[in-house]
This record gives sequence, structure tokens and C-alpha cells, in this order.
Amino acid sequence: MQRSHRSVTIWEPVRKYLLICVLAYLASSVGYTQAPAGVPARPRLVLVVAIDQMRFDFLDRFEPLYKAGLRQLIDRGGVFTNANYRHASTETGPGHSVLLSGSHPSHSGIVANEWWDPYLNRSINVIDDPTQTTVGGRGRSASPANMLTFTVGDALKATSPRSRVVGVGMKDRSAILMGGRRADGAYWFENDGGNFVTSTYYMNAAPAWLDDWNRSRRVDRFASQSWNRLVDDVALYEKYAGKDAVEGERDRKDITFPHPFVAMPPATEHYVELRRSPFGDEAVLDFALEAMKQHELGKDAETDILAIGFAATDGIGHQWGPDSHEQMDQMLRLDIVLGRLFAQVDATVGLANTVIVLSADHGSRPIVEISQERGVAARRFAPKAIQTAVTSAFAKRYPGVNDLMSYFATDIYLNEDAVRRHKLDIREVERTAIDALLATGAVERVYTHDDLRSTAPSSDPFLELFRNAFFAPRSPHLQLLLKREVYVTSTIGGTGHGSPYEFDRHVPVVFMGPGITAGRYTDASGPEDIAPTVAHLLGLQFPREHDSRVLLEMLNR
Ligand SMILES: [Zn+2]
Repeated sequence: MQRSHRSVTIWEPVRKYLLICVLAYLASSVGYTQAPAGVPARPRLVLVVAIDQMRFDFLDRFEPLYKAGLRQLIDRGGVFTNANYRHASTETGPGHSVLLSGSHPSHSGIVANEWWDPYLNRSINVIDDPTQTTVGGRGRSASPANMLTFTVGDALKATSPRSRVVGVGMKDRSAILMGGRRADGAYWFENDGGNFVTSTYYMNAAPAWLDDWNRSRRVDRFASQSWNRLVDDVALYEKYAGKDAVEGERDRKDITFPHPFVAMPPATEHYVELRRSPFGDEAVLDFALEAMKQHELGKDAETDILAIGFAATDGIGHQWGPDSHEQMDQMLRLDIVLGRLFAQVDATVGLANTVIVLSADHGSRPIVEISQERGVAARRFAPKAIQTAVTSAFAKRYPGVNDLMSYFATDIYLNEDAVRRHKLDIREVERTAIDALLATGAVERVYTHDDLRSTAPSSDPFLELFRNAFFAPRSPHLQLLLKREVYVTSTIGGTGHGSPYEFDRHVPVVFMGPGITAGRYTDASGPEDIAPTVAHLLGLQFPREHDSRVLLEMLNR
């Protein structure tokens, strides 16, 4: 009796479990292979294309000129015209961490490209992982370990272990953060040596194809080329992008075409130049197609995900700005690069079996001098002036104390240990710093941990963006909302991003593929909506943020 009883108690849950498995399998296979009429089967491939620093207006401004990949996306895609990041930290790490996780930095912990670690007493890069080593070449030890959330790729692999997820990017943080925790591989480009590499997080040794690829030096084939206008028609560029060679571009010297490479391979400087040249995107495309082939992505009915991060737009944007002939030319060339990518996907997987998503990690601000021409009192502001304002205020208020600031990254990390040691009140220290910051004339507002931890409603439209970007163990003690027209930089030219203003938050979100109705969708949306929407298309359970949504309006009903 005893024996029989025991066997029943063990058997019951197992039986129920098996039953659930069978039902789940049947349910999934029904949705998978025999989708009801009008509902497309799961795609074989989800191709996510992240264009570093691509502003939404790039899609519209040059629209009549696009002929290839961007043309297809505009004509056949669901284009979300009002997609804005819902966080304040518009940097590359946070942006890419959102794209396939849908998580705010407040949940992913990816609050910036780097942050201060008070325990290690040093700054941490977003993908630093000292427990790993680089595979395939030299470079930084990297993994997604700092990302405290999961991606739609992770959810896919949890339910469909044979699905493959691969991230490729010019930048490590792009490939790694989009790849997620369970990626089969993430590959990025290292300037030191000029190789595409990965890390021991993904594999113990480089596969033969990766070594072969790097040995082929395909990436060096651009060195003899000089970047000139794609279309030999200056008037066309003036029509769409205004005048060339605006004061304030780059270093104020290299501001007109052509832009030849100055350094040659294998010099590290050559690869630095490659990153801010359209040829950088071609190098990423070449490699991504090889990775797609080697990982056999889209080959069978189990959905795979390939995320590609193109970064030439960012390199060019930082140097010449969003209104330059260079950036316009980059967009015309990106159109062609994406056309080649989509053609290859069509040939191997079929666009009918592929959902394509295009977005960006952030936008950018206009060059200061261009804003001035438009009547905006824009100006550059030296970071040192902000730092000195605070250290001077501390010296005056707390004579003999000189260790209250741990780290300055325009935002400010205080040294809590020193605050305690000197028996100071941290809120009073913060107040002293805030008064000094506001007195610089560059700072609109300063947020403390108290401000960001609180959930009290506020009429401040920026507070929610900062709260979504706030993760207490990593966030600065003082986060600055700089004045809209102030660009904090120590360079004499070029431009940047990182603010919560709309020029940094407004990016393209485009979906194209089976089940998606082409059109322009104007309701408010954001890149945070991409992951839950992809999950919806794949029939996966997936969380979303309180302020994000599934982009249902583009889905065929
Ligand atoms: Zn970026």
C-alpha cells in the first residue's frame, strides 16, 4: 500500500506535467505550422537592424532619394513616425540594451556606457567582464553580464532551444546587448588588430570560419578607397542638406570631400577611421552575412534572430553632424548596404519568411553653429568648468576636505565613504553641489537619488525619463538636465547625444515582413515597444514596461 501510494504521489505531477507539455506542444505546433487563415506562420528569421545615431528625420528628409533597403522599408514597412526613447540616458549602451529587451535602464541596470563602481573604485564599461577573454583577436574582456534583464532572443531560446540568436556589430556593446544572455554568438570589431572577435562567454575557441575571415583581411579592402560623394552632384546635396563645410564640423579642417584614409592597415588608427567612414558599414555587412551563413540562420522552421549594429552613421554624425553632406551621403550609402542585406536574406531565407526591424540607439543634436544660424543660442560648454564649479564649492564649504567627488562624467558620483568619514550630511553635500551646478548657467535642473527613487507625480516632463534611466547601485548621485542649447564637450567641433531632448530620443522604428501592414503610424511609440512586439509576433510570453506597448496597429487583423 505504502509503495503504491508513493508511486501515485510521484506519478500524478509527472503525468500532469507531461500532459501540459503535450498540450503546449500541440498548441504551439498548431500556431506554428498550421496558422489560421490570415495569421502568418512564425517567421524563420527576425532580422534586427540597429543604426547607431540614426535620427528619425533621416528617413523622411532623404526619402525621395532612397532606392534600395530604406526604400523597401518605407514602401513596404510599418513606419512609426513618433517613436521616442522613454529614458533620459540617450547613449549607445542604454539604447542597444532596450532594443531587444524592451527594458528600461531602471530594470536592465544599463544606465550609461559606463558608470562608477564604488566597491571596485573604478569606472565600469557597459560590457566589461573580467572573467572572460577575447576570442579571435585582441580586445576587451566582454559579455552581457552587466545587463540585468533578458531579451526576446533569450525568451525564444528558452522555449525553442534549437532557435539561434546571433549579434553582430561594429561596436561590442551593440552586438552583445542585442544578443542577450543566451546568444549563440556575438561578434564585434576591434581596432587593435582590425579583427572581428567574440569572447569566451560564447565559445572557448574561435571557429575556423572566424579565423579564416580575419586572415582574409577583407576588412582592409577599403584602405585604398577615398570617400567621395556617392552622387557626383553637389547641388543635390545642397538641396537636401544645405551648405557644405559648415564651421564647427569635425576638427574644423577635414570638412570637405574627399575624405581619404590617412592611416593604413594594420595601424589601429586606420580602423578608427574606418568606423567613421561608410566603408565601416560595408565591413559589418560582409561579416554579418558570413556569420548568418555559418550559424545557418533562417534555414529551418525554428525562428532565429540576427541582430546587426551598423555604426558608421554614429561615427560620421559625431564628426560632421546630422545636417552635413557627409551624413546625407552616409544615408544614401546605408540605403545600398541595407538593400544588399535584404537581397541576401531574400535569396537564402526569403523575405516572406523574415520579419525585419529597423531602429536606432539614439539620435543626435545639430552642430552648434547650425543651431546658431537657426536662431538658437546654442553653445559648447567645457565639462571641466562644471567639474571645477563643484569642487570649488566643496572647497569653500568644507575646507580641508578634497575627496567628496568619486567620479565626474558630467553627472556626478559622490564618495559616500568620505561623506561619512568627514561626518557630513550627504543631502547637504548634494545641495552644495546643486547650487554650484545651477550657478554655471549650463544646468537646467539636477536630480538626486531621492528625486528619482520617488514615484510621486510631477509636472516635470523630464522626471519620468530620468526615473526610467535610474538604477540606484549604478546611477550618479547627481544627474544633470543640461540646458537644451548647451552641448558639453571638450572638442572644438563635431556634435553628440546623451540628453533627454527630442533630437536625441526621436528615432526610426520600422517593421517589415509577413503580417505587417505597410503604412505610417503616428501614435506615440518607442523602441521599448520593439521587443514586446517581436515577442507577440513569435507567440512568446514577454514582459513589457508600464509605459510601453505592443504595436498592434500595424498587424494584419
Ligand atoms: Zn550610439
